[in-house]
Amino acid sequence: MSAKKQKWIDQPLRILDLVFTPRLDDYPMEEVIAVCKKMHANVIHFHCQYNMRGGFRDDEMYFKSRLSSKDNRDVLGEFLPLAKKANIRTIVYMNLHWFTKSFVEQNPDWWVVLDSGERLDHLYGDDDSSLCINSPFRDWSFTLLEDVCSYPIDGVFFDGPISFMRRQACYCPHCRDLFEQQHQKEMPAPEQSNRADYALLREFAVASMVRYYHDAMQVVRKSGSDLVGYGNYANVAEPDWAAGRVNRRLIPTMDALLAEGGFMHGRASNAVYKTGASSRLYETQAAGKPSINAVSMAFSPWRWVSLTSSETQVLLSAASVGVNPYYAIYLQGIDMPGIEGAAEVYGFLEKNEKYYKQTESGAKVALLQSAQTLNCYSGVDIPWADLGYQDEQQAQSVGNYSRSFYGFTEMMVRAGIPFDIVDETYLTEGDLARYEAVVLANAACLSDAQCTALVGYVRNGGKLIADFESSHYDELGSRRDDFALAELFGASSENTLSEHRRWDYGFVKDSGAGQLSWMETEYFPAPRRNLQVKVETAKVHAVFSNSLISNIIGVAERSDDPFLIENRVGEGVCYFFPTMFGEFFEEIHPEMYPRMLSELLGKSARAARLSGVPHQVDIHVRKQVNKKRTMIHLVNLELSGTGDILPARNLKLSLKPDHKVRKVRALRAGKKLNFEVEKGEVRVTLQELREFEVVVFEA
Ligand SMILES: [Zn+2]
Repeated sequence: MSAKKQKWIDQPLRILDLVFTPRLDDYPMEEVIAVCKKMHANVIHFHCQYNMRGGFRDDEMYFKSRLSSKDNRDVLGEFLPLAKKANIRTIVYMNLHWFTKSFVEQNPDWWVVLDSGERLDHLYGDDDSSLCINSPFRDWSFTLLEDVCSYPIDGVFFDGPISFMRRQACYCPHCRDLFEQQHQKEMPAPEQSNRADYALLREFAVASMVRYYHDAMQVVRKSGSDLVGYGNYANVAEPDWAAGRVNRRLIPTMDALLAEGGFMHGRASNAVYKTGASSRLYETQAAGKPSINAVSMAFSPWRWVSLTSSETQVLLSAASVGVNPYYAIYLQGIDMPGIEGAAEVYGFLEKNEKYYKQTESGAKVALLQSAQTLNCYSGVDIPWADLGYQDEQQAQSVGNYSRSFYGFTEMMVRAGIPFDIVDETYLTEGDLARYEAVVLANAACLSDAQCTALVGYVRNGGKLIADFESSHYDELGSRRDDFALAELFGASSENTLSEHRRWDYGFVKDSGAGQLSWMETEYFPAPRRNLQVKVETAKVHAVFSNSLISNIIGVAERSDDPFLIENRVGEGVCYFFPTMFGEFFEEIHPEMYPRMLSELLGKSARAARLSGVPHQVDIHVRKQVNKKRTMIHLVNLELSGTGDILPARNLKLSLKPDHKVRKVRALRAGKKLNFEVEKGEVRVTLQELREFEVVVFEA
């Protein structure tokens, strides 16, 4: 990177959020310091708003402000000198999205208004509401910010505000006026089927958020050059219209990117690979600035109850690779085992800080998160989020982007392939050439420029793997007659979908040969639908069966519909599944699918190799080039249904480092490892992997 001046926030951070607010009147500030020390935290998200009666109100500020309607204890003033002495950075937690109904009722002019004309209520519970970022609430919040920043703090964390387009808001007079000024027309109804209007509304929501945070950061900057500010950003697979948060557009004016990739609903095993996926996307989107992956202690929605120690260790270690971890504790649950697990991870990170400083990913595979597809494609699920009244939502259309993305993510993890997650900005502005392979998980909506970049990448020797409707739509969601990547696929779209396949098979075209020669049988479960394609220059590796009348049959005939095709272009190659390969894996988990993906990616796409155990282990390769050091981070995702870890034993690990290796160490085990070198590959055996381990190879 550039020789920019290092700020304190560029150091490895171990952030603690201690929700002691139920005891704001009497909790000793010395105790907050003691908890930070016990947890090995070096930054605290400090609470000085009560927020426990359905959100924020102006008589519950525990700091001095011109806006406070009651003279409460000044916990911020008491805490700061203690924190300074203890070398703990203080970031003030500011809830600006969640207020009590009685508070919002004082200012009807600031309400978030639904399309129906009613006020938007219910964020987490029954007695709460929000306020509009385009209303005079802005000025009120900036005054509050000025008052907080007049204390000698290190920074501010904005927990909101957000926009509420997903809930068909905001149609307040301020938003309507602003929209009309910007677009010379009346604000349209929130109809997702009207693509042009919906795109305008989406842009309005996003631009309003960018404007709000830009102006808020002016207030922070005015208060001191060392002060930092960052917000609560969009999560993996979150469409822009969900809350108006677009990480790439918010990050330029802010100092770090934080999002809640480690907030789980229920047991962590339900979606345990998602935290590592989040770390990967945040690192890409922070574009060189620090990023923070937030983990909650909660066995949500029960916030006083922690996840188990093992679950906590798995999530927090996944939230520490390439990004910085954040952990939130509710005081009521501070003695639960999960908290001890978090302290153990933070203690490990403190002790081994040098291995986490200024590292870069050594992965050779990039999986694309397509925000355009999330925004414009019909098959998009809304993930669970930490808002009580925001339910999950499953799209019903044929072809689903979210499930395909997570299907590929999980296959990559199951196949033990180190990978990065990139976004569309990276396709045209990043360094694609550093990857051996790029994977498109039904990335339906891509622009001409992005497709041109991918064609150039393959021509120059890259490998592309794609499925289903990838590139069949433009970046605004208009369907093209053919794939924009038809040249790479070596096939064109016939714009016809197969019937729903209930129990059909796929067949290897030439068993024992080619890319699928390892298969034990020549048939395998086939996805639900395929897009009919006209094969031009590609070679067919596998086809679908004809539609079967039952799952008890004597013979299944092969159809001409391809399941997998290969096309060589320039120096590179493209593998295309004209079917919902990733989505079907997410649904059914056929065990041969991750192997198919792994074989297509090939050996050279594996930056490291793990074998000898059946466990699902998320592998990250991180490099410190100047120090001639490579770290392999292993996160064991094998959690039982009640949150215990299933340890792995005698794991074989190998790496082809681009530097000499004189020493290999396992940091958590605290042991030097014996190693062998063969053809430039360094091999070690790791005796045991519990929740996580870091193996360091150094010259
Ligand atoms: Zn509004």
